[in-house]
Amino acid sequence: MPRIFKAKYAELAIQRFRLVFLVTLLSSTTIATFGWGRKGHNIIVDVAQRIVTKSTNDSITKYLADETWQAASVWMDELRGNSQYDYMRKWHFVNMEQNEAYSSNIENGDNVVNQLDVAIRNLKNRRNLTPDQVTLNIKVLFHLMGDLHNPLHVGYGYDRGGNDVKVLFNNKTYSLHRIWDTEIIEVKQTTQSDIMDRLQKTKKRKLKRIAKGSAPKWLADSRSALPVVYSLTTDTITTQYFEQGNPVAENLLFLGGVRLGVTLNQIFRKY
Ligand SMILES: [Zn+2]
Repeated sequence: MPRIFKAKYAELAIQRFRLVFLVTLLSSTTIATFGWGRKGHNIIVDVAQRIVTKSTNDSITKYLADETWQAASVWMDELRGNSQYDYMRKWHFVNMEQNEAYSSNIENGDNVVNQLDVAIRNLKNRRNLTPDQVTLNIKVLFHLMGDLHNPLHVGYGYDRGGNDVKVLFNNKTYSLHRIWDTEIIEVKQTTQSDIMDRLQKTKKRKLKRIAKGSAPKWLADSRSALPVVYSLTTDTITTQYFEQGNPVAENLLFLGGVRLGVTLNQIFRKY
């Protein structure tokens, strides 16, 4: 290889080193649709439940009928494989490369950011919906607010939101995506009480400020967590990695919960 190309190649190789040796392309083309595991999604609705007014709570409880908020928050993950809901398959995530700006047209609007916005808009105009459609939109809102606050659901396309990055943890192979769906909060035993304590200490005015804007703006918080997500120096997940990542994940769960609670109050205060 001529020296100039060799040098260029070496430079590129260094740039890509961290990622290339971790990336294994899967032969499968399955789209991973898990969001936070059950625990993460449940924490988000628990936070929201503490924020909503009694009348908001009553309205939602009416629409959910026998279903709990916690069950409703993971409904979108549980219907996978049900072809009736195939149209929601891509709603759990959005993939954008490092310098790519968000556009609501990504995947023709079938992305987590746009569909979260759509659900909120639908619920604000629920006079046009049947009760069943309201219930469905509440479940979509609950779930997608969670997925939006998971950094690997708004990650890069080249590794399919970390699904193609294989890492070792406890001598088992995981995808980096999976680590951030569940292990990052399971390992350090993130508890509701850590997050609830923070909620209790946060003034109402601050909660409103956190929830200002809409999904395209909220997206920035999860995207800004990506450097921590990719701060891997080997393909083994270390305690240090978890220690660095866990507070980031907890913060995102808090933000998601606050945004869900305040948004629900905004939606249900009228009528
Ligand atoms: Zn999901």
